[in-house]
Amino acid sequence: MSENHELILEAKHITRRYPAPNGRTLTACQDVSLNFYRGQTLGIVGESGCGKSTFMRMVVSLEQPDEGEFLFHGRDITKLKGEELRQHRQKIQMVFQDPAEAFSPRMRVMDIICEPLLNFKRIRKSEKEAVARRYLEMVELPGDFALRYPHSMSGGQRQRVGIARALVLEPELIVYDEATSALDVSVQKTIIELLVKLQKEKNISYGFICHDMALVQSLSHQVAVMYLGHIMELLPGDKVADGCVHPYTKAMAEAVFDLHMDFGKPIESIESEAPSPLDVPPGCPFQSRCPKCMDICRKEKPVLKTIAQGHQAACHLYDLK
Ligand code: SF4
Repeated sequence: MSENHELILEAKHITRRYPAPNGRTLTACQDVSLNFYRGQTLGIVGESGCGKSTFMRMVVSLEQPDEGEFLFHGRDITKLKGEELRQHRQKIQMVFQDPAEAFSPRMRVMDIICEPLLNFKRIRKSEKEAVARRYLEMVELPGDFALRYPHSMSGGQRQRVGIARALVLEPELIVYDEATSALDVSVQKTIIELLVKLQKEKNISYGFICHDMALVQSLSHQVAVMYLGHIMELLPGDKVADGCVHPYTKAMAEAVFDLHMDFGKPIESIESEAPSPLDVPPGCPFQSRCPKCMDICRKEKPVLKTIAQGHQAACHLYDLK
């Protein structure tokens, strides 16, 4: 995909650490490098605590990395401060899991949708209703919803309002953080169809994190599999089901690929649970659960290597290939 699509955001060697009790350190992201291309979706999957949400929070500048840089059209946005950072935020928007929590119950839908535009003085107050109606129709809701309050809408409708609010600043990249996870499966499907349609119409880029592996691969041009803060495998979305090579991705894919893979539940085909992010072993992070673990895996951390075009894996099984 990289040769044919414009690179808009490049994450280079991103590391994020947090102080933990007793002088210890929790490394949520370790040397993560990923690219976002125009009009394409990068999906990130992994169990709870793998670092995917931390990474995306840095993409939208809600947090800063301890090491590495985010190059947006070649410019390091980790260095932006004050007004420059505020202006930049228009370009990358985020849609959260629970729109009910994200919206003030006292605001009408038109105020919710137009708040970012008013903050940046891009419209006048008198234009609010007309603008809100336009964006509501874009997300396939009736324009009359502009006058409603969020509590009088269903979860799926509120999420569409969240998408409209993210679109209104015409960003180049939208990050969806478990944005469909709280919705019924039938509603999820219609929201995903809407996202695909909007992406085609607007040539917008998406970052999509979700604990449902089947859902992520259905939407994503590229999928990154994360484990304990590390990228284990990066591959085209349409190769996840039968083309993945990393033992972790394979275990997940074999578990319940046809059903929607829920990382909130234990993965039956992998024995034991993931170690604490505070106790990541030297060598391969996946060694304690890997059926193919070798001596070298306990000593040397595998690095991402190219397996095929657009496909990388971090596993010593592929050192000689
Ligand atoms: Fe398993 Fe070793 Fe590959 Fe890690 S590097 S996934 S332990 S085979």
